[in-house]
Amino acid sequence: MLTVPYRLAIAACFGLLLAAPRPAAAWDYPGHRIVGAIADQILQRYYPAVAAKVYYTLATKGAAGDLTYRSLSQVAVFPDCAKPNNERWCGRPSSDEEKAYAADNKGHAAFHYTDVPLQRTQYEENSAGTEKTDVVHMIEYVVRQLRAKTPADKPAKIAGVKLTDSEALWLLVHLVGDIHQPMHVGARYYASDCKTPVDPNTTGNAGNHFGIGTTVAETQGGNFIALDGPAPAIPPADNLHFYWDGTAVVQAMQAAGVGNSEADFAKLLAASPPNGLATTEPPEKWPRLWVA
Ligand SMILES: [Zn+2]
Repeated sequence: MLTVPYRLAIAACFGLLLAAPRPAAAWDYPGHRIVGAIADQILQRYYPAVAAKVYYTLATKGAAGDLTYRSLSQVAVFPDCAKPNNERWCGRPSSDEEKAYAADNKGHAAFHYTDVPLQRTQYEENSAGTEKTDVVHMIEYVVRQLRAKTPADKPAKIAGVKLTDSEALWLLVHLVGDIHQPMHVGARYYASDCKTPVDPNTTGNAGNHFGIGTTVAETQGGNFIALDGPAPAIPPADNLHFYWDGTAVVQAMQAAGVGNSEADFAKLLAASPPNGLATTEPPEKWPRLWVA
């Protein structure tokens, strides 16, 4: 994360007050639940054996060995509900399960995004805006963990990351939503005049996170880009990131004629996925393809 002085400096750059930490409601909850519901439908319909395994892994186990099953749609919001001060968005305090995850993964708030400069056409290891625990590396990590058949298949350890298989599943279904939010993967950087777009990789600032130095500012995934003009029809979106997270999702549902039914929207999307997105690459490679 940025240090506070930088955050202040950058916020000042964009004429805003000190902003809250990274998106309180990343992709917002309807979007995450819809992504989970699409996965639920596809698994149940085409991969029942995998579905059984997934739901068993996600189930909570009672003292008497009784199981309470949860869907991917239900757990898709957990990584946001695990963030501090997110009760307003989550609608409840963090659960014990989310608290345990947060305690084992202190840097979890940064798992949700990467900040590749828009000038780059693909994800490059160790370039400005990338991190070992960003959304790309974390999806790769959890996919490897979940697919590992022997201890030797497990992913290489990442410092500060420790996930049960259940946590890995709910993190995966959440991050697949986040990585499809453009402002979770591409970032605009500016010179210190706050007007000239720059690529921190070419300004000598690539070495530290975000490429931020004294000469480069960034927009915090669109959180510092205030929306100007008439209030959007569906509040409360006062910045570009938030608009995309919430307003755009609700408007897409309305445009599809499903009203507010997340289940109907998920059904519609599962039944008619966009052309040209399928890949023959193994899942471990998908996050880099998605970012690009
Ligand atoms: Zn997120």
